[in-house]
Amino acid sequence: MKYLLSLLIAIVWLNLSDAQTTTYLHCGTLLDMTSLNPQSEMTIIITDDTITSIEKGYKKGSQAIQTIDLKEHTVMPGLMDMHVHIEHESSPKRYEEKFRHNDADIAFRAAKYAQKTLQAGFTTVRDLGGSGVNVSLRNAINLGYVDGPRIYTAEKSLATTGGHADPTNGVRNDLKGNPGPKEGVINSVEDAYKAVRQRYKNGADCIKITATGGVLSVAKDGSGPQFTFEEVQAVVKAAKDYGMTTAAHAHGIEGMRRAIEGGITSIEHGTMMNDELMELMKKHGTYYVPTISAGKFVAEKATIPGFYPAVIVPKALAIGPMIQETFAKAYKKGVKIAYGTDTGVSYHGDNGKEFFYMVEAGMPAIEAIHSATVSAADLLNVSDELGTIERGKFADIVAVKGNPLQDIKLMESIDFVMKGGVVYLK
Ligand SMILES: [Zn+2]
Repeated sequence: MKYLLSLLIAIVWLNLSDAQTTTYLHCGTLLDMTSLNPQSEMTIIITDDTITSIEKGYKKGSQAIQTIDLKEHTVMPGLMDMHVHIEHESSPKRYEEKFRHNDADIAFRAAKYAQKTLQAGFTTVRDLGGSGVNVSLRNAINLGYVDGPRIYTAEKSLATTGGHADPTNGVRNDLKGNPGPKEGVINSVEDAYKAVRQRYKNGADCIKITATGGVLSVAKDGSGPQFTFEEVQAVVKAAKDYGMTTAAHAHGIEGMRRAIEGGITSIEHGTMMNDELMELMKKHGTYYVPTISAGKFVAEKATIPGFYPAVIVPKALAIGPMIQETFAKAYKKGVKIAYGTDTGVSYHGDNGKEFFYMVEAGMPAIEAIHSATVSAADLLNVSDELGTIERGKFADIVAVKGNPLQDIKLMESIDFVMKGGVVYLK
């Protein structure tokens, strides 16, 4: 009796001392994305936040082990969206909110958007520009205060004076001030270094520039170049010094060319990209992040009177519809593509719609999923931790009922979400 009691105490103590949580996922179909081939009837074993084993068949654990039945599901790595703006969402009020909202107002909304993003199956996002609340949100999510995806953030986008991301564009002259590198506005090589170093100091993970004009800024032109070649090069060099990758928002040809030749990691939107630029991207290994969703969204909303300020409407109608066609050409040419939506322009939680647009334009479903997992992880330089379902990687896993390779629209109704071994949706 005494022996049994001490044995029992020993077992309890052992369990408490290494208190590991083990979960078994029974997967009807598994797309682990280490290859493009689905496997059927597999078990993923997760210990704490890490995938520890993947086995054939439905393995049974002891009673204490949590087993989740996904036998009717297709199970995939957590999805990764390489272009979001987690702080904001389009609405006719968006332009005046800038004058009323404090950081706390932005933060409460952003927390909701982060939650919607995660519930949609996106366990990782790259935030390409906000006010700096995005850095605090990333930290709050990492510390467990808020539910949301892993965030890799550019903090504030870099612009030149009057450029797409100049924070005082379109305001009354006496409110324009003179934003500089601290606020993300540069006008020289020296400024470029200072602005990148400031982002590093503020906690950014990557750097975003607005290489050409944009659709949603209160400014006339959406396509002309807005950085000199030397300024782009300086941004890229400074970012490399701090181990940061770079992204360039670009619609027009000349701005895109300077960004690619300057060594930018990814081109965002790429609306007017021609054959020559596609070849140049292949030569430099530049990623293309298409954001077809944003193009569709702005073109549709521009037809609603008052949704956008008048100066934006012609740009949205001209640029919006072009992106899907550019994507189709770039895919056929073999440009490296990573999944990105520009959500925040479109509505948070709708990140999965891009899959349909990609497939509609001629990309096979499995490659679209590849762009949102393996390629995205490669773009972020985190392939050792994320992007596939493999032993040793973070247990970021999503599932959808049915077969998304036959019906890509299913990617818009993810119904199982695990991030770091924690189940957020079941
Ligand atoms: Zn954007």
